[in-house]
Amino acid sequence: MDWVHKAVVRPKISYGAVVWAPRMTKTMEKRLDKTQRLAMLSITQPLRSTPTVGLEALLGWIPLGIHVREAGMNTYLRNKELVKSGWDGIGEQSSMTGHLGIWNQTEDISIGATYPRAGRMSARVWTEQSASKQEGLEMAIYTDASKEGCNVGYYWMASVGDYIIDEESLLAKDISVFRAELLAIKEALEWLWINGEKVRNHTIYSDSMSAVELLNGSTTKDELSTETMELLKGLRTRLNVDIQWVKAHSGITGNEFADLMAKRGSKEASKLQDAKPFMPATYKEVKKMTHSYYIKEWQRRWDSLRNCKISRLFYPQVRESKHMVRMPLKELQELAQAITGHGLYKHHIRHWNEIDDSQCALCGEAEEHSWHLWEWCPMLEQERAIIRKLMEKGTSFEKGIIKMMRTKKLVELQASNEALLAT
Ligand SMILES: [Zn+2]
Repeated sequence: MDWVHKAVVRPKISYGAVVWAPRMTKTMEKRLDKTQRLAMLSITQPLRSTPTVGLEALLGWIPLGIHVREAGMNTYLRNKELVKSGWDGIGEQSSMTGHLGIWNQTEDISIGATYPRAGRMSARVWTEQSASKQEGLEMAIYTDASKEGCNVGYYWMASVGDYIIDEESLLAKDISVFRAELLAIKEALEWLWINGEKVRNHTIYSDSMSAVELLNGSTTKDELSTETMELLKGLRTRLNVDIQWVKAHSGITGNEFADLMAKRGSKEASKLQDAKPFMPATYKEVKKMTHSYYIKEWQRRWDSLRNCKISRLFYPQVRESKHMVRMPLKELQELAQAITGHGLYKHHIRHWNEIDDSQCALCGEAEEHSWHLWEWCPMLEQERAIIRKLMEKGTSFEKGIIKMMRTKKLVELQASNEALLAT
């Protein structure tokens, strides 16, 4: 279910987010919350009225509205430089740049400030469908680098048949062309590491004789070439990866295109502020920055909530989790009750039943809710000490809470509250 939600539902919803996320209204966001709520209800089957935000904190699912903004931002950052420079002089392309421009005004762009890419021209999504169509074919990867003064651009492109599967333009300053040629190959190898499985045979074409010779040899010069060779060696345990030299400007389309893109990159690099030699952030790093920005956004929302007090006591920090949904349903249900406080505790059931007294049945000293029982109730000191010891030895926070709620005293307490409800 978690898989279905993240792999099928979420991408479908966030598709085209770059276009519509900046215009997201409160109503749309509520609708997204509802969608995620349905998925979470089917997973945890909690008591009715359990708040959505509490379930999100428990399962470790970022709110869908925030996720959609993040997806939109990532698309924007991939196209940012393209918007600024790519259409210059080609005429009015307002219809193509308009919706991207909105991001400038609506989001805190400082997270993309270190983003030095020239942008992707036509990255196609490497879908399962296109993969099965191209099965048995060879992936051709073209790399090239170009230097103008101290400005360097380098580029790689992965293609199968006529499809550009993915590509990347990168900028740098004050590095040698040779180094840039190697960097382009290394970036392509890193991409292959994650995306290469769908095609068996891969050939990297470079017009740098020295880079090709180096990588086909056995001695390395420096850290970069060692790292690149290690990467290649690792890849070759799983895939066929060839590195071939092609003559520059000999009419090979892929190489000509890579050359063009690298040259464009070196022009772009002149706009970079840094005078010092520097390594550009990879798209992966940018994505990571974007992600942590939106996690912070989730945290801000979490901190500013007025309700969900008990959930916020259990989870002062929001966190993402993939494994929570793999817990047995029964444990998840118990956990949802404990963490959100929406369970058989007097503090909660007094909303349903006319119970005047919501004092803790064990100690009578405070309100009876799950956080009191877990953290404070003096009558559970022994149980608490045992569970804390287990947690020191590796039992997770969540398993600890379940253990606490299953102690004899608390099973009895919940049963007698259930009886109260029935009357
Ligand atoms: Zn108590």
